[in-house]
Amino acid sequence: MPMVPVFKPLIGEAEIRAATEALEMGWLGMGAFVGEFEDALQCAIEAMDRHVVAVSTGHAALHLGLLLAGVTAGDEVITPAFNNVADFQAILATGASPAFCDIDDSTLCIDLDKAEALVSKRTRAVIATDYGCLLCDHDGLRQFAERHGLRVVHDAAHSLGSRYQGRMVGSFSDICMFSFDPVKTITCIDGGALVVRTEDDQQRLQEMRLIGMGQSPAVMYQNKRAWAYDVRRLGFRYHLANLHAAIGLAQLEALPVISSSRQETCRFYNDRLGAIPGIRVPRSDFLDVTPFSYYVRVGEDRRQELQTFLAHRGVDTGIHWQPGHWFTLFEKCRRGDLSVTDRVGKEIMTLPLHSMMDDEDRQRVVTSVMEFFEKQS
Ligand SMILES: *Cc1c(COP(=O)(O)O)cnc(C)c1O
Repeated sequence: MPMVPVFKPLIGEAEIRAATEALEMGWLGMGAFVGEFEDALQCAIEAMDRHVVAVSTGHAALHLGLLLAGVTAGDEVITPAFNNVADFQAILATGASPAFCDIDDSTLCIDLDKAEALVSKRTRAVIATDYGCLLCDHDGLRQFAERHGLRVVHDAAHSLGSRYQGRMVGSFSDICMFSFDPVKTITCIDGGALVVRTEDDQQRLQEMRLIGMGQSPAVMYQNKRAWAYDVRRLGFRYHLANLHAAIGLAQLEALPVISSSRQETCRFYNDRLGAIPGIRVPRSDFLDVTPFSYYVRVGEDRRQELQTFLAHRGVDTGIHWQPGHWFTLFEKCRRGDLSVTDRVGKEIMTLPLHSMMDDEDRQRVVTSVMEFFEKQS
């Protein structure tokens, strides 16, 4: 019996055709497809008054986003301790250090009341990460940032295609970033993007992603490059390749169906798992979000047992995430009360969620989880 994987990329004929076209084009680096991908993403997130810059990974987007926010050596960046390692490492890469904040017990996103107590003279920015299928209190976040003069880097790696109070994620934040890594809602194989407010910020990012070279994107997007250019700022080799952008473009076209199919599977899960005692499911009707992942919370003493039980029934599970302050590299970082994070870190378990998920697969997930809890009672 093949395992039902936690994540499963949706690679169909359109993606393979797009990849072939990009390979046959004879221009493998940054070129026409990257420009097209940025335009298509901008439309998809309804951010026509913003500027989109595609980069090589979500981690690169976070690193550049923090640099753009002015984060520098000696600064602190407030981040939920319950976050992706990429965020913590992006903070370190700027020379700053993370200040770990707790999360809200129902949204699993940053707890803004607790963030208040973490603000110091060194705080420069706050990272707000939407989790799985839930969104941050973005209005509260904006007020918090304004009150303390902080920049906000919105990590929307999980929330592409979601709406917050009617507005598309990516269209309203200070600095917003997406990831298109192999397991994300939409993949470029590897890729990322930043959404910023001004042309000036866009231009800075365009240079920073290209080892600082002041190449005109208009020229590069014709599959050409200039041989005379200046280098005016620190840069990295963080650009997106044509091949990856071409795959991302094909994926973006499918976003509406990807979105509704993921919503539907999350509702299927919530309807069947929500009433089981001993389990907590995300509190959402999944109407306005494009869920990236689906989680359950189980008593910490039962999690390993449930994972093993499910594995024997051909259901793979994941843990997103181990909190940041549990890792050796970050164990000395400043933090506030992290009691919710510590609890969630032990309880959280990711169940399989795919685009166009097989009926049999999701039924197997539900039946197996139910069997585990029936066996217990
Ligand atoms: C995947 C992810 C990232 C990192 O993106 P990569 O493209 O893998 O570098 C950052 N933040 C969150 C919340 C993620 O899920």
